[in-house]
Amino acid sequence: MLAIKELCVKKEDTVRTALARLDATSQGILLLIDESGHLVRTVTDGDLRRLLLTNGDLEGSLDQLPERHPVMIHDSTSNEEALSVMRENEILHLPVVDKFGSPSRVLRLADLDKPVLLSPPHMGDAELKFIAEAFDTNWIAPLGPNVDAFESELADFVGAKHAAAMSSGTAAIHLSLILLGVAEGDFVFCSTLTFVATVNPILYQKAKPVFIDSEPDSWNMSPAALERALLDADAKGQLPKAVIVVNLYGQSADMYPIKALCDHFGVPIVEDAAESLGATYKGRASGTFGRMGVYSFNGNKIITTSGGGMLVTDEAELVERARFLATQARDKAPYYSHSQVGFNYRMSNILAGVGRGQLMVLNDRVARRRRIFDRYKDELGDIAMLDWMPEATFGKSNRWLTCATINTDICALSVTKVLSDLALQGIEARHLWRPMHRQPIFKGSGYYTHDHRSISDSLFERGFCLPSGTSMSDEEQGKVIGVLRGLLLQ
Ligand SMILES: *Cc1c(COP(=O)(O)O)cnc(C)c1O
Repeated sequence: MLAIKELCVKKEDTVRTALARLDATSQGILLLIDESGHLVRTVTDGDLRRLLLTNGDLEGSLDQLPERHPVMIHDSTSNEEALSVMRENEILHLPVVDKFGSPSRVLRLADLDKPVLLSPPHMGDAELKFIAEAFDTNWIAPLGPNVDAFESELADFVGAKHAAAMSSGTAAIHLSLILLGVAEGDFVFCSTLTFVATVNPILYQKAKPVFIDSEPDSWNMSPAALERALLDADAKGQLPKAVIVVNLYGQSADMYPIKALCDHFGVPIVEDAAESLGATYKGRASGTFGRMGVYSFNGNKIITTSGGGMLVTDEAELVERARFLATQARDKAPYYSHSQVGFNYRMSNILAGVGRGQLMVLNDRVARRRRIFDRYKDELGDIAMLDWMPEATFGKSNRWLTCATINTDICALSVTKVLSDLALQGIEARHLWRPMHRQPIFKGSGYYTHDHRSISDSLFERGFCLPSGTSMSDEEQGKVIGVLRGLLLQ
């Protein structure tokens, strides 16, 4: 941050000095102060241009600027008030003065008016160093030392034996299904409350999804619904080739009963842990309970490589085949030889460098996301119509996104209305995932509810996610809390 002194000029300073200072500070504004340090007026590029046009003298002093009472605020003024002062006066900068009338800082409209985003990327200190290494050694190609290191560092972090870095989480899910032999006409069971990226790979393989409802304690796959689905499928001789279990919004599904059921019927699990990197289930890393687990480093995830994914497994044979298929399935031969269909699914060495830097701050990011959740819950906990996403006793969530539901039994507010009102205030909040069994592209697919109720439907109708990015400032979160309170209690 710029010291306020650098923005201050005096009457005896020349136009030349002021122009040079404007240039050096690039804030678009200077503050003219008197002998006792009080703010006299603001000075912009335009003011200096007009002065030059009248007297053409670069060496003339700022004394010749016309007197103009500055618009300013005191340092006790809230950001909301500051914003309305700037809008009323149509100004981009607002000086803040202390109780003696001396400037202490300058607020910029662009900073105050910044939208509060749901979950923007948040870079740490080391990413650029790893990228620079890639540049210095000209490892710009896909694969390279950052990829190898990122794979082994991530495998260590989650306690998996092997990891293969991919171009996206979706690519990793797709390969998992191929490795499990999912092919045309096969069934694959899958959590219904998820992002479409979990399910699209089932269609890439021309297989058929069957959707499994959530249970209320974790919002993740209901073991009761899964059991009924497996019993039905077994009776028809149509057991699925795989079950994709999603760990939603940073929380693990209840993996032990799910795994016991799948083991009983001999069906392998793919864990979609795209949202739950850094979370645990019974003390072990989320994403390491299936035959394969998948993480995502998309831009909005808890750590990001701008785009990327990782497939983890304890089976060396699976990871080898994943790497083979992800690099165009090139046979071992002295020339280009291919006997099966491959993909271009690997991660680049540059992006893996970003991932290595991000992995170093993952624990901090989890702690911060959890604090963000706690603050929302503490400061809005008195609002009876709000319920917060539960944290099941079996694990620790990374609280990727803070999620809540509106109790529609006691109020008539619609989620869509709340979200559009938040958007008007520059706050990006979202609906929970719309369940897959309700999506037009999966029309006609099977669906098993938790019990007589469909939990995912009611979560979708009542639930939303709040801005939860780790780079969000305390003031920004305060704004979200204030605006939401106002909307709900109006
Ligand atoms: C983000 C996400 C994915 C997809 O990951 P990409 O890296 O964006 O392909 C898959 N499943 C879930 C649940 C996700 O949230």
